[in-house]
Amino acid sequence: MHRLLLILPTTGYRAEAFVDAASRLDAAITVASEEASSLAAFNPDGLVAIDFNDVTEAIRVVRPIHQRAPFDSVIGVDDASVVLAAAIAEGLSLPSNSSAAVAAARDKVQTRHMLRNAGVVGPRFAPFDIDENPEYLRPDFPFPWVVKPTMLSGSRGVIRANSRREFVLAFQRVGALLRDEAAVAPLDELMAAGSSNRCVLVEEFVPGPEMALEGILVDGRLEVLALFDKPDPLDGPFFEETIYVTPSSLSENVRGRASAAVASAAAALGLHDGPIHAEVRLGWSQPVVIEINPRSIGGRCSRILRFGSGMSLEELLLRHALQLPIPSPRLETGAAGVLMIPTPGEGEILGIEGVAAALEVPGITEIDITAHRGQFIRPLPEGSGYLGFVFARAETQEAVISAIEKAHGKLRFRLSSTAAAPRAA
Ligand code: ADP
Repeated sequence: MHRLLLILPTTGYRAEAFVDAASRLDAAITVASEEASSLAAFNPDGLVAIDFNDVTEAIRVVRPIHQRAPFDSVIGVDDASVVLAAAIAEGLSLPSNSSAAVAAARDKVQTRHMLRNAGVVGPRFAPFDIDENPEYLRPDFPFPWVVKPTMLSGSRGVIRANSRREFVLAFQRVGALLRDEAAVAPLDELMAAGSSNRCVLVEEFVPGPEMALEGILVDGRLEVLALFDKPDPLDGPFFEETIYVTPSSLSENVRGRASAAVASAAAALGLHDGPIHAEVRLGWSQPVVIEINPRSIGGRCSRILRFGSGMSLEELLLRHALQLPIPSPRLETGAAGVLMIPTPGEGEILGIEGVAAALEVPGITEIDITAHRGQFIRPLPEGSGYLGFVFARAETQEAVISAIEKAHGKLRFRLSSTAAAPRAA
């Protein structure tokens, strides 16, 4: 029987999909999480608690289980767990990306240095300490700039600045976010050779449409699983993700060059195995990799991907990890999309309305509201997360986008302080 060690943060949406995929493959799983489960006593090799910031201790906890019944693979499911998963795999001598390569990918400054050293096209950039006075900082490239923390994710703290005045404000805002950000895992800082959580990265703004690539590295070769267009322009000042739709409507030439740019970026970071999720901008003469991560697509977005005869992305990734055959890594036909429901304002959610009406919109396949009444929400750049996901399937990309926009127009999040306006009707 195949055996997997899943590193699952207690926050996040991915557990279910991976656990389902493992059971479809009849693989035994041990779930290592941050909090002890009351069920662990009944199944001591199935559920363990580990400290996500202490690699040595985590390896000490899982090693005896591995010795009793060896794992085939260690899987991290998101940004918070991939570095630890790679480090545990190294500790247990299991195949994986090196933890140094995964940690480098988690660190935006180190990523930029490594891509530049390898000759991969990218924006000019300059890292600064949060305590520097932005009035005196002089990156040697023209506005507009993007100011961002080095180790947060989900566009938190990412701000466009078009002028010195905007830059000073953005720098102060990112500094304040980092000073009170307890959520940045010290493990990242520990393992990243380059920068620290006190670092603010300033980059040239790369214009143009943006796309996302979902892929898998097999022996260092990138297999593209899906390319997503992002139909809403991401021009700032903040960069909230909204709609992802696949297949991409871009030409084969552009798609090929974007994929080649991601493959070069993966190689530059020393990544050779497992999932890749990357964001690419297309406004320069060559595609520019804005970010590349050794994990699969975030949140519940993976649900829009169905391969071959209905295989989920998680099953495909586990098959890869267990070296099982992957019958057909082709996406099912037709267009599919997801809206990450944006946060409409700041306040406590008093009510969520319109879900049933939104579900009736033709093409909408599922609406998954992850926010709940009583929850306090805050938009980007300080806030995080989405209020849920709207999924659609249709013949064409246009039909998918239109269904999602219609459905979103029917959703209402009533907040304590602000009236939530729908994004599109
Ligand atoms: P995160 O890891 O928090 O998602 P990213 O660096 O990927 O941070 O930035 C989030 C989004 O901000 C990107 O998807 C892109 O839309 C925008 N962005 C970030 N850096 C740049 C840049 N240099 N030029 C243009 N857009 C950028």
